[in-house]
Amino acid sequence: MRLTIFFLLCLTLLPRTATAQRICIDPGHGRKTVGTTGKHTTEYKICWEIGQQLKQALEKQGMEVILTKERVEQDVPNSERAEIANRARVDLMVRLHCDADNDHGIATYYPAKQGTIRGKQGPDEAVIEASRVSATRFHTALIKSLEGALKNRKLRTDSQTAVGRKLGGALEGSIYAKIPVLLVEMCVLRNAKDEAFITSKEGQKRLVRALAAGVKAGVTPSE
Ligand SMILES: [Zn+2]
Repeated sequence: MRLTIFFLLCLTLLPRTATAQRICIDPGHGRKTVGTTGKHTTEYKICWEIGQQLKQALEKQGMEVILTKERVEQDVPNSERAEIANRARVDLMVRLHCDADNDHGIATYYPAKQGTIRGKQGPDEAVIEASRVSATRFHTALIKSLEGALKNRKLRTDSQTAVGRKLGGALEGSIYAKIPVLLVEMCVLRNAKDEAFITSKEGQKRLVRALAAGVKAGVTPSE
């Protein structure tokens, strides 16, 4: 009897992993499609680095984290990245990228309408709405936490990217998503100041803290 009570007590004290929020971090690009390049780093490398740090930060907050890649150089098609997040039934998929724009700063993208690729149309209306809500909360918390360290390039939609426009309104990773999805262009890698920020220890610390605050806000259910 005493043993039963002991076990019951242990059970109630155990972290409630069943209800832990589950996040998919998708560090963009790989060996073949390296992404954009700066003077000192390449997009796939910096996305992997930030992804690893963000994983740690989220796990510290009690979240479950899955990654779409096992190694920095691994190439995973965008459709498969989304399927990994779908299979894990994550609460939010966060795709990490860096931009090659003439501008500088940080921007968040989400699918506001469906797109089509290889005959596949998506995401569905529920995913579009959930992504809008999550991305809005995510971006607000992200910018607040950054305290001006990076320029706010605002919350945007997939249609505002060249690829998203070409596909009719959503990026490939969004089209396949059955879970809320957003994409962060963490900085403009071709901008020297932005690159210095994202490659510095202090800059990474601030960015990861802000991304973690964004994720937390993004998965908090409404009152
Ligand atoms: Zn990219």
